[in-house]
Amino acid sequence: MVSRRNKEQQKTNSISDYRSDFPILTREVYGQPLVYFDNGATTQKPRCVLETIQRFYNEINANIHRGVHKLSDESTLEYENAREVVRGFLNARKSSEIIFTSGATASLNLVAFSFGEVFVSQGDEVLVTEMEHHSNIVPWQLLCERKGAKLKVLPFDENGELILDELPKLLTPKTRIVAVTHVSNTLGTVNPIAEIVRIAHSQNVPVLVDGAQGVKHGIVDVQQLDVDFYAFSGHKIYGPTGIGVLYGKEEWLDRMVPWQSGGDMIATVTFAKTTFNELPFKFEAGTANYIGAVGLVTALTYYSRIGIEAATSYEGELLQYAIERLSEIDGLTIYGNAREKAAIISFLLKDIHPYDTGMVLDKMGIAVRTGNHCTQPVIDHFGIDGTVRASLAFYNTFEEIDRLYDALVKIKAMFG
Ligand code: PLP
Repeated sequence: MVSRRNKEQQKTNSISDYRSDFPILTREVYGQPLVYFDNGATTQKPRCVLETIQRFYNEINANIHRGVHKLSDESTLEYENAREVVRGFLNARKSSEIIFTSGATASLNLVAFSFGEVFVSQGDEVLVTEMEHHSNIVPWQLLCERKGAKLKVLPFDENGELILDELPKLLTPKTRIVAVTHVSNTLGTVNPIAEIVRIAHSQNVPVLVDGAQGVKHGIVDVQQLDVDFYAFSGHKIYGPTGIGVLYGKEEWLDRMVPWQSGGDMIATVTFAKTTFNELPFKFEAGTANYIGAVGLVTALTYYSRIGIEAATSYEGELLQYAIERLSEIDGLTIYGNAREKAAIISFLLKDIHPYDTGMVLDKMGIAVRTGNHCTQPVIDHFGIDGTVRASLAFYNTFEEIDRLYDALVKIKAMFG
């Protein structure tokens, strides 16, 4: 293995010392120590999250909001406390602006339906970007089909940066909402959300941000960004699967209709008429994933304790190193060279199908993602079949990048 890291650089590694908090990272795959580079798809979970979930099931578990007994009380308290922690994490004004969902996809669908039902009519326009995940395209497409509205698209350039000059031209008096990703899961581009919000708000257009990748990339302050909605999944920020968040400004949430109905979201039910519960319960039908919510805030607290900025800055160093090393490989192309880029690197080896690269890397113990990453328009933009994507987290190391480099050199020789 050829490592370019010198001793001075190695010192900055200390953040990855937290690696030992993640039990799964000690396992082997095909006889090799696991290199987990699929963090964009889901992150691994620290021991404290796993222990919290187990403790909750062992000691507290009872359905929330409904029981008169002690366990239900404790469960409810932990769930509502989790909401308050998320409020603080995003710096929302009120905890009633925090809605628990099953994940980013559910949060985006919630807005597309509940906002769309009230505010989007025939002939109106919805603006998304060319780099959205399918979860932030298809719900809007379905809404537009249902309402007879038009889906418009803000393009990105060859570096994978949104062409912001086009934004004011695409906004018209008919635009009802702009839906944009904070960070592209394929290109790594970090979008200038505050600037996009400023431009959209100058035309009185609200902005929804898909924060699935963005929430772990630096501190998110929804009041400072002035976003109208912010959606993310717990499992991409070291929390459990099946829990997600939608932040929405009260002024919008209050006027939106429920998207799912059933228990907990009602105030009164008669066969003649149902009235709805107040925020945030209006949008939380059925038994909530209260244990997921508690697991999520354990993850958020853990991540904050490590230091989100320190983690992001270390990931930036890893990314820089990965770009340098991978660029040494003749015939390797990197897709996405934005000036502001999160630790996601999409690439192709010339004449080698991404699935082949991914399969062989797997056999070498290196987990990456291949394909279109649920962003078919991004892949189409470049006229390719897909990419190999290595997405990094703070528990990854420079040595693991060396292993990726060595493996790619071997794969190139193998297929060459
Ligand atoms: N948006 C982006 C940018 C993503 O990367 C993903 C998942 O990869 C999603 C939305 C959907 O997230 P989930 O599947 O957790 O709902």
